[in-house]
Amino acid sequence: MGLVGIVVVSHSRALADAAVALASEMLADRPVRVEIAAGLDDGSFGTDAAAIRDAIAAADDPAGVVVLMDLGSAVLSAELALELLDQQLAARVLLCPAPLVEGLVLAAVAAAGGASRADVAAEAVAALDGKVAQLAPSSPVAAPTGARAPSADQAELAQPDREVGLVDRADGQPEIGVFVVSNGHGLHARPAARLVRALAGLDAVVALRNLTRGGPSVPASSLSRVATLGAVQGHRVEVSASGPAALVAVGVVLELARRAFDEPTPASSPADASDVGGVLSSPRPAPASAWWALPASPGIAIGPARLVQTAPIVVPAGPAGDAPDERDLLADAVAQVRGTVRAERDRTARQTSADDAAIFETHLLLLDDPELLGDADHGIATGRSAARAYATAVQRTEDALADLDDPYLRARSVDVRAVGDQVLRQLVGAEEAVLPADGVLVAADLTPGQAVALDPARIEGIVLAGAGPTSHSAILARARGIPAVVGAGPGVLQLAEGTTVALDGSTGELHLDPPADVRETLNARRRAHRVSYARALAVARQPASTLDGVRVQVGVNGATPAEIAAGVTNGADSVGLVRTEFLFLDRDRAPDVDEQVAAYRALVDAAQGMRVTLRTLDVGGDKPLRYLPQPMESNPFLGVRGLRLALAEPGLLRDQLTAVVALAHESPVSVMFPMVSTLDELVRARTVLAEAIARVGSHSPTGLQVGVMVEVPALALNARAIVPYVDFLSIGTNDLAQYTLAAERGNEAVAALADPLDPAVLRLIQMVCQAAGARRLVAVCGELAADPVSAALLIGLGVRELSVSPAAVPLIKEAVRATSVGAVQPTVRAALDADGASAVRRLAASFAPPSS
Ligand code: PEP
Ligand code: MG
Repeated sequence: MGLVGIVVVSHSRALADAAVALASEMLADRPVRVEIAAGLDDGSFGTDAAAIRDAIAAADDPAGVVVLMDLGSAVLSAELALELLDQQLAARVLLCPAPLVEGLVLAAVAAAGGASRADVAAEAVAALDGKVAQLAPSSPVAAPTGARAPSADQAELAQPDREVGLVDRADGQPEIGVFVVSNGHGLHARPAARLVRALAGLDAVVALRNLTRGGPSVPASSLSRVATLGAVQGHRVEVSASGPAALVAVGVVLELARRAFDEPTPASSPADASDVGGVLSSPRPAPASAWWALPASPGIAIGPARLVQTAPIVVPAGPAGDAPDERDLLADAVAQVRGTVRAERDRTARQTSADDAAIFETHLLLLDDPELLGDADHGIATGRSAARAYATAVQRTEDALADLDDPYLRARSVDVRAVGDQVLRQLVGAEEAVLPADGVLVAADLTPGQAVALDPARIEGIVLAGAGPTSHSAILARARGIPAVVGAGPGVLQLAEGTTVALDGSTGELHLDPPADVRETLNARRRAHRVSYARALAVARQPASTLDGVRVQVGVNGATPAEIAAGVTNGADSVGLVRTEFLFLDRDRAPDVDEQVAAYRALVDAAQGMRVTLRTLDVGGDKPLRYLPQPMESNPFLGVRGLRLALAEPGLLRDQLTAVVALAHESPVSVMFPMVSTLDELVRARTVLAEAIARVGSHSPTGLQVGVMVEVPALALNARAIVPYVDFLSIGTNDLAQYTLAAERGNEAVAALADPLDPAVLRLIQMVCQAAGARRLVAVCGELAADPVSAALLIGLGVRELSVSPAAVPLIKEAVRATSVGAVQPTVRAALDADGASAVRRLAASFAPPSS
């Protein structure tokens, strides 16, 4: 059975419209059918039985219809309408004597929660109870409970030590939590409706009690009863729950209360946001125990600190053996490490993605670096031991890189040290630090080897003193779903082993030895996150539309069949980005057409009929190909990468497009080109594509769509010129932010600058959407798309596909459903005019969906 339908009968069309708009505010995305029969055809006041009959028929559902009416003759007209109806339908209709406005709000919320026709009507009838209770002391109308509420002082005295958060309880007792109402207007209709909605469907009986004001417990499932709590700002409210989902229910309520029941705060409400930019960017108040680090991997972790102790490598000072023996020792050590690095690379490619595995490619190249090995060999020839000669060579290379002005090359010194240490450990027999477990890891940074060995079952979270959000440690923590913060500063390394550490990897919040209330708050937030994720997953396979009916596709980014299959399971509508690099890295020659067709077919099979978007090879100076040696570039991110490399090596692009076209004759496939700066490059790529089409068959595959990645500001600025040449545009916000802010995404010293929420980046996204208009789909496949808080902004700007990692799909669908394209426009405008990324982030947070 569906949801009870509602009919509003009023003398005034304007009154009915406004009442329905008010009630809709409480419904979020619940599709309750509310029909209006109000006013007369000539625009005057009055009610019309025939119109009411039609409205009832339109609202009809097997669950029944509840009719709410305003003044006297409205009731007569409604009764007459029943007589005009088919008898079976009339039997499902209940004329409800509730007050129109208050009754409609409560009836709508009850209907959205799946209440029966009688319960919907009962809720509506009780609609004045809240007002009566609120005004009871000075009102001639008796409070519905009959009992006079104790004074605030009396009530608090009765609960002297009730803390905020979850309260310990004995087995078999209800779960109990306490929260303080922070909403300016108290727990009024909108936040109360949010609370009732959030609990609907949970297998728990939940009650609320106002501890400050006193009074009886009321069922949290009834909006009318919640209103009788009279909970105003600052009041403490107890939530108690029993049943299988009791703990979850209390967690949900505490989490909602923490977020002020998702009511926009006055400072961040869309209407006035543009006036208060300065206020918006002020730092968030934090409890005394809080530090702020950089968010690196979402999720909340609480546990004892486990410090990673790295034993120093001591190179013995003793005499060296014969040079040939020392050379053999070094060659053996390098071979051993090569095997380990390859195994780590393969494991990463299997378990996370080929992109992440590229870190190890760099290490393999350094391991066999002829300069480094030649220097070590020279040391051995002059009588040094293998360990001493190699240590000296590594130190020299590291120093030379560290002295360079170029930050990219300077950062490579870390990789030289990581590789060098592995070989030296092998030579002198020193163990690499074994990662401690069963707590929160605290370290300066992790080597790629340590990061790849992270076990989510045993490591609650990670705190790194150094590193950036796009460092290998952060990427691998994200891939394993371990909450992490980075860049916390050296102070964290002074922590005593076992100190409780709590962190929120989505916000960068970090607490060292937090007090009980902070722990409880974070615990409740963690439980609520889990519950929210489970709920989002439950409906993730349904298509997602905004509240005002705009369909938004949620795609999955992947490089392996396993990732794409995970996307299917999690409800993806499409595969928005396949990074085809996985097939080209780590080998001695490029894959031929047949091998590519087979590999892409495996991806298409995993997609189970969904459209698959293959991005042509995106490698270059930062991701080198062994079989395509390139001259050293001092700025590889501005050098020959992406489509530039493909056009410089036409054989590579020709083979890849031939494979794509062959597959497109079998399945719905899209192809897109990365790192395009000019129309000329795009036209040249399309020429190679046209040749591939002619080579494969007599006609273009009907389902083949051709797109371009917008990653270079010039392309966004020239989007109007590009649009006629493509079927779709996919914005790579990772690169677009890096190039717009001139801040390399992998360089931890400037990575925070490359913020995709910077208004400059948003303006470029807006330009692309405006240029594309309704004719071309605009997607976002960069990391920004996976941020539920930013989703509404992107949708408001005109983006209609968000492509994200498999785990993020359910949350982004939920974010889509919580967005209204129309309602976010003031916030979008304010964001475009904001003075920086943090101001934008605050604006975006005002419409954060439930799980974020
Ligand atoms: C991007 O730049 O946003 C993108 C999706 O491509 P990649 O991260 O592979 O460079
Ligand atoms: Mg990119």
